[in-house]
Amino acid sequence: MRTRIDMKKVVIVGGGYVGFEVAQELDAYADVTLIEQREAFVQPPATIRALLDPALLDQIILPYDHLLKNGRVVRGRAVSVSQSEVRLQDGTAHPADFIILATGSSYAAPFKPAADSIAAFRKASSDVSAQLAMAKSVAIVGAGAVGTELAGEIAVAQPEKDITLISSDTALFPMYPAKLGAELKRKLERLGVSVVLGQRAQDLQRMDMPYAGSVTLTDGQVVAADLVFPVIGSKPNTSLVQTLPGVKSTPSGRVKTDKWMRPSTCPNVFIAGDIADVGDGMTIVAISRQNPWLIKTLKHALKGKPVEDLKPYSPWKKAPILVPLGPSIGNSWLFVTVGDWITRKMKGKELFIPKYRKAFGLTR
Ligand SMILES: Cc1cc2nc3c(=O)[nH]c(=O)nc-3n(C[C@H](O)[C@H](O)[C@H](O)COP(=O)(O)OP(=O)(O)OC[C@H]3O[C@@H](n4cnc5c(N)ncnc54)[C@H](O)[C@@H]3O)c2cc1C
Repeated sequence: MRTRIDMKKVVIVGGGYVGFEVAQELDAYADVTLIEQREAFVQPPATIRALLDPALLDQIILPYDHLLKNGRVVRGRAVSVSQSEVRLQDGTAHPADFIILATGSSYAAPFKPAADSIAAFRKASSDVSAQLAMAKSVAIVGAGAVGTELAGEIAVAQPEKDITLISSDTALFPMYPAKLGAELKRKLERLGVSVVLGQRAQDLQRMDMPYAGSVTLTDGQVVAADLVFPVIGSKPNTSLVQTLPGVKSTPSGRVKTDKWMRPSTCPNVFIAGDIADVGDGMTIVAISRQNPWLIKTLKHALKGKPVEDLKPYSPWKKAPILVPLGPSIGNSWLFVTVGDWITRKMKGKELFIPKYRKAFGLTR
């Protein structure tokens, strides 16, 4: 029988959607170390509703204590990586046979923790929640999934507010069949949201957190609001992967890989999730396709077989998307546009909270 001492060492950096699941799935097959700078995982899809229902925070901040049965979660910030080890800010080195980097992305407050402090994240969320409760008018700049969901959540929970959702695109979700964006626009307008399309905000005062002020649009119109939310996308955290030899970024700020999700000249170092430009979006839906491939590939490699013998990763052609507007309504594209009932069942009602609590060894 193999003992843990004989097992190959897998070091994973980043305990987000990639890291926690890959670590858990490989825990029985390798000596796994998961390096994460925060003491807990935070579930971003539910940080939007937490602004309207602050008690949700206790449900979506999930400590790593019960994640792994055999391996370990090390709290620390990785600062460099080579073919054979990952080095932390405190000077410790973690030797590895295989390395997976999944350092994810940053987002404007209060939707993801800004740094390594969960207490600071809780405070940012509760401060904005209090400001939102007092605000009579709200402008949301950016109408991707986060902006659209935010507009819907606020309109459903606090219907007396004057909400403006601003997009530089001429339709909501222009990458999807027109029906998805048209239905969501119709539902938002029915909830009283003003949806302004084809207008860019010229003078966002901050990108990192909401503020009281105004935004000037391309046509000169000024939208004043008690709270302006900048929700213009995720910024990939690539400084760690850049310490590897031969890494190349793409214009999106993500990192190129070979066909087997390897970003450098080191054949045993893989990346996935928001930092990896493999043809997928920066979403959990993308990761739900990448993780099974990565787990299968690592299990194969752990047996000493060449990675190149396996089928390369192939991204979603067009990924499904679920867009709730509050707990009960919304639309989704699941290879066909669907409405309230499926969106509620699949995401809107529970926001996957029970699924992730279970994965982290917590009861409902
Ligand atoms: C508000 C919001 C709502 C969203 N809703 C959805 C949704 O409904 N559906 C969907 O598909 N996608 C959604 N997304 C996108 C989704 O959250 C991301 O795609 C996903 O989090 C990416 O996972 P990841 O594992 O690549 O990185 P992350 O989740 O960003 O995790 C990276 C982890 O790495 C850690 N880390 C980073 N650098 C270091 C380091 N040097 N050392 C140690 N640890 C480090 C971080 O602390 C973090 O825990 C949403 C995003 C936001 C902001």
